[in-house]
Amino acid sequence: MPPASGDDVPVDSSPDQRGRRGGRRTLLIGACLLLATLLAGTALVTSAARSPGDPAGIATDAALTEPFTVWERNADTTPVRFDPCSAIEVAFNPDGAPPGARGDLEEALARIAAASGLDLRLAGTTDEPPSDPRLPYQPERYGDRWAPVLVTWAHPGQPGVPLRDTDRGIATPVAVGPEGDRTYVSGQVVLNADRGDLRGGFGDRRDAWGATLLHELAHLVGLAHVEDPDQLLYTFPGEGPVELGPGDRAGLAAVGADQGCREVPTPGPVRVSRPASGSGHGTP
Ligand SMILES: [Zn+2]
Repeated sequence: MPPASGDDVPVDSSPDQRGRRGGRRTLLIGACLLLATLLAGTALVTSAARSPGDPAGIATDAALTEPFTVWERNADTTPVRFDPCSAIEVAFNPDGAPPGARGDLEEALARIAAASGLDLRLAGTTDEPPSDPRLPYQPERYGDRWAPVLVTWAHPGQPGVPLRDTDRGIATPVAVGPEGDRTYVSGQVVLNADRGDLRGGFGDRRDAWGATLLHELAHLVGLAHVEDPDQLLYTFPGEGPVELGPGDRAGLAAVGADQGCREVPTPGPVRVSRPASGSGHGTP
């Protein structure tokens, strides 16, 4: 199969000004984007995501009535998703993480797993730093398999860190497979180690790392932003209890175990490209 040109598009749309409620300065919860991957070996490996505001990213009219949005849909209009019949392993790099980060990550993974049925699990720690783009196949580090999802905290401005100063975090799933029949196999969640205004736990959406972890992990498994401020996938953090809303749960179910197994493409080297444009990031 010939190399395909990338049609990757950053997924975060411009900031929703309605998110600035009550004059409060609201920070974007995360610039959340998808990467596109381009081929390797014999397998075409692409992943493209489109802005939630891009009509091309919505495959069906029915999708417009759903209380959630997804990064990408396959040719049969179903969301691109992980295989729920395989473990989705997460490797945690604790370098730079705030106190309690591991416990918060485990709790967030458990909540997303419970809502989706996905077999999300913390497999252990790693010293792999964030990279941009991050390769989903790293046999020298992880063996001949798709690399586990990397979760780490990092400082904006450092090489390989896909964060702006104001971001809380960014989630980047990576899909492989032929056009129209892609499956997520790996990804990366990078949290902003410079956000000293955030605290551990799941206390309130306005300042809890737990809320950010849930938001980013929901992105990781395929969900994009919604316009509803009652959902954790609202573009802005908002405030209130750190609980998945009905739209969040509907979205997680749509990319979850009830949708059946997917055949995971054979692991192998891939080349990953990412959007050249810096667009798609919101403004604090
Ligand atoms: Zn987001």
